[in-house]
Amino acid sequence: MGETPIRVAVCGALGRMGKECCRTVLAADDLQLTRAVDRLSDDRALSAELGVETEIGLEKDLHEALKHGDVDVLVDFTHPAVAAEHARMALELGVAPVIGTSGLSSEALADLTELAAQKKLPGLWVPNFAIGAVLMMQFAAMAAKFLPHAEIIELHHDRKVDAPSGTATRTASLIQENRREPIQRPIQDEELVPGARGSEISQVHVHSVRLPGLLAHQEVVFGGQGELLTIRHDSFDRGSFMEGVKFAVRNVRRLEGFAVGLEHLMELA
Ligand code: NAD
Repeated sequence: MGETPIRVAVCGALGRMGKECCRTVLAADDLQLTRAVDRLSDDRALSAELGVETEIGLEKDLHEALKHGDVDVLVDFTHPAVAAEHARMALELGVAPVIGTSGLSSEALADLTELAAQKKLPGLWVPNFAIGAVLMMQFAAMAAKFLPHAEIIELHHDRKVDAPSGTATRTASLIQENRREPIQRPIQDEELVPGARGSEISQVHVHSVRLPGLLAHQEVVFGGQGELLTIRHDSFDRGSFMEGVKFAVRNVRRLEGFAVGLEHLMELA
């Protein structure tokens, strides 16, 4: 007898990431798609939308979908305005949340950490599911120990609703945590046009590019005396995130409490 499959709900199932995620769960023998939720849900069958055979219908209300006790892990790809509430809902109902939606605030993360500890449940927010992107962030953290001066250029498709990206914010905070010496400010850092130097997160300037043709890309540039180190990652299609989604779903229940980043499960952190 094989092992019992992990029962998965996907929220945001009609979105670009949600659809890819439903396909991925349906194709994995050890995962079972028990619930698919999207606020845009109408009577369209999910199978028609995905172009694959499935009995699962679409539901509109996440709370309704999670309260039946047939979900082990919630995967959320929705909108920054609702993702923290979805994670909270999952924890309240005994479901482990894996949140892929970007832009969770530090207050929301603190709240989820507290709730997960209270409920003795695991949970994970993953700013970037691409394995290469996780490594890029870890390499950037390593480089910051020796080259504290860094700037980030993140590039995404023009339908992304938030800026800067969750990956850029996370990379900036990792750089700051790992700097061994304070950075020297440029002698003249006056902006002749507001925004010319990008945004500043954890003392790292972040430049956000939004253009059709792009998917998700990031360059972290470190400057030293007479040298430059560039670490770059490119996601060329949404499939690049799916190995990480499967890995997170399969392993999230190994975590004690709520964590940020796939690196905790990859034994990199
Ligand atoms: P999208 O707009 O294509 O899809 C979002 C879906 O969520 C839509 O179908 C929408 O109807 C649904 N939705 C919104 N609010 C809802 C609610 N309250 N309840 C149920 N469904 C709701 O967006 P997308 O391109 O799929 O991206 C979704 C999120 O994932 C974004 O925040 C994006 O930045 C993030 N993202 C993360 C990664 C990662 O690796 N972590 C990779 C790509 C995108």
